[in-house]
Amino acid sequence: MPDALIERVRAAYESGTPLVIQGSGSKAFYGNAGGGEILDTRGVAGIVDYQPKELVLTARAGTPLAEIETLLDAHQQMLAFEPPRFGGAGTLGGSVAAGLSGPRRPYAGAARDFVLGLRLIDGTGQALRFGGQVIKNVAGYDVSRLMVGALGTLGVVTEVSLKVLPRPASELTLQFEFDEAAALRAMNQWAGLPLPLSASSWHAGLLTLRLSGAATAVRAAHARLGGETIEDAAAFWQRLRDHATPFFDKRPLWRLATGPTAAPIGLDAPHWIEWGGAVRWLATDLPAAALRRAAQAAGGHATLFRGDAPLDGVFTPLAPALATLHARLKQRFDPRGILNRGRLYPDF
Ligand SMILES: Cc1cc2nc3c(=O)[nH]c(=O)nc-3n(C[C@H](O)[C@H](O)[C@H](O)COP(=O)(O)OP(=O)(O)OC[C@H]3O[C@@H](n4cnc5c(N)ncnc54)[C@H](O)[C@@H]3O)c2cc1C
Repeated sequence: MPDALIERVRAAYESGTPLVIQGSGSKAFYGNAGGGEILDTRGVAGIVDYQPKELVLTARAGTPLAEIETLLDAHQQMLAFEPPRFGGAGTLGGSVAAGLSGPRRPYAGAARDFVLGLRLIDGTGQALRFGGQVIKNVAGYDVSRLMVGALGTLGVVTEVSLKVLPRPASELTLQFEFDEAAALRAMNQWAGLPLPLSASSWHAGLLTLRLSGAATAVRAAHARLGGETIEDAAAFWQRLRDHATPFFDKRPLWRLATGPTAAPIGLDAPHWIEWGGAVRWLATDLPAAALRRAAQAAGGHATLFRGDAPLDGVFTPLAPALATLHARLKQRFDPRGILNRGRLYPDF
C-alpha cells in the first residue's frame, strides 16, 4: 500500500508539485494554511504488531487512534500521552505528526517520548526507516523523534512503533476552589511531593487533579490533599483531552507554553491552565505580539491554536540560529519543499 504513496511523492518531487498530507483531517485547522494536492494517508492503515508483554505496538499511519485504543483497552493498556481523538477521527500518523499530547503529558511523557521508531517517505519519494521496536534503543540520535511535531514537513509517516503502558489500577479526581495564583502555587508545590499525580487543570476558580496508581497510594494521597472527589471524572478528563467543552470553541484561542512555575500571565482574558502550569490556554483577541511577549516573559512561547493566522504565522517565529537548523533539516528531507509547504512556518 505505501507503494502507491511512494509513487505519488516521487512524481510530485519530479514535477515540484506541493502535497498536503492528510489523515482524517481532524486537525486541518492547526498550523498555518498550506496548499497543494491532497495526499490521503488513510489507505495505509492497520495494526502491524502488538506485543502486550513487551509494551510495544506498531501500526500504519492511517490507523484511527480509536482502533488502537480499543485494542489496548482490551489488554488494560493505554497510550500514556493521551492524544486527543475528536470522536475517534484522528489517525496515528496525524497524531504523531502534530506531536500534541493530552492531560497526562507532564506526569508520564509527551508523544515524542513514546515513539520508538517509524517508517517514512521523504520528499524525494524514498522509503526510510528510523529507530526500532525495542524500548532500550541506544543507536545514536533518534531521527524518528524529529518527526513528532514536524507536521508532516519532513516526510510522510507510514508506520509507527510506540511504547504503551499499563492502565493504572486506580484513579481518583479531586477538586478544590482556588484562585489562579493559589492554584499555580498548589500545583507546583504538589508536583514536588511523591504524589501519584496524573493530570491537573484550573479553570474558573476550580483546580482539578487526577491521581492514578495503586489503590493504596491513591487513597493515601487523597487523605493528604483533601479536596472534593467528583462524579464522572473520566468524562471530565476526556472532554479536556478532546477539547470538547465550550471554552475551546472560542476564537482566537491561544496556547501559551510557559515555565510551570511562572506566575499568572496577567492578561485579561478567560484562561484554562493545564500541565501543572506549563500550558495556559487564553481566549483573547489581543494582538499576537502581546501574547508572544507575555509567553516569553513566562519562559515560553505562544501559538495561535485556533483562529485566523497572524502575519508572522501561528507559531512563534524561530530565532535565527534555530531557523537555520530547521532549514537544513528541511533541505535534507524535502529538498524541493513539496511536503506540507508553509504548514509549520510560512517560508518552510
Ligand atoms: C480543536 C482541536 C484541539 C486539539 N488539541 C490537541 C491537544 O491539545 N493535544 C493534542 O495532542 N492534540 C490535539 N489535537 C489534535 C489531535 O492530536 C488529533 O486527534 C490528531 O493529531 C489528528 O489526526 P488526523 O489524522 O486527523 O490529522 P490531520 O489533521 O489529517 O493531520 C495533522 C497533521 O499531520 C500531518 N499528517 C497526517 N498524516 C501524516 C502522515 N502519515 N505523515 C506525515 N504527516 C502527516 C498533516 O498534514 C497535518 O499537518 C487537537 C485537534 C483539534 C481539532
